[in-house]
Amino acid sequence: MSTLETPTLSKTFSTQSAPDHQWVLASNNKGKLAEFQRLFAKANLHVTIVPQGELGIEDAVEDGLSFVENAIIKARHASRISGLPAIADDSGLCVPALGNAPGIYSARYAGEHGNDSKNNAKLVADLQPIRTEHANKPIKGMFVCVLAMVRHADDSLPIIAQGLWQGEILEAPHGEGGFGYDPLFWLPELQASAASLSATDKNRISHRGQAIKQLLAQLSL
Ligand code: IMP
Repeated sequence: MSTLETPTLSKTFSTQSAPDHQWVLASNNKGKLAEFQRLFAKANLHVTIVPQGELGIEDAVEDGLSFVENAIIKARHASRISGLPAIADDSGLCVPALGNAPGIYSARYAGEHGNDSKNNAKLVADLQPIRTEHANKPIKGMFVCVLAMVRHADDSLPIIAQGLWQGEILEAPHGEGGFGYDPLFWLPELQASAASLSATDKNRISHRGQAIKQLLAQLSL
């Protein structure tokens, strides 16, 4: 293709690009996978999302300094090993009162990758002195989700989508559903925690729901 020719996304991301129409999800997080599969199934793209673990792909080393860098690193890694198009989600919780921690380190905030209860306990403990100092004023937090989609490992034009979800951080867990920091994430306008929302309601408004919708919109251009 000449350098002057701009590929349309519908051409570059045709589902024909993979003979079996499989795309790898560069994650083994069950919570993320369920949310992806639900939203992709609705989009009718004829694409099956396969978690990288099913293809024997280990996690990439996430050594980027931002969500977007890590999302691209993870997508390229999964695509390089599988030979398939890949989507990666790098997400986390940013708390401005903690300098945006846990941020890109959300999955391993307490030191052990993916230990949700330890991560939540550390967040509650880290916020305690701030609550005391500010007379229990609500502490703001924001879930961030950045998606990167590559057609192949060296793709120079990854599709990037980003969703942000504003809320407050609770002092104690609330609700039984969701995953990760959902039980500590309070939505004042709904008077509910993210963990007490149904999967459908969470997908409708969450950082990931917003980012996946943006990605799907770009794919169907
Ligand atoms: P990643 O796999 O490196 O992107 O880490 C994402 C981490 O951020 C997860 O392990 C969770 O701790 C947190 N996280 C991301 N999205 C959500 C969500 O929708 N709910 C709750 N926690 C989330």
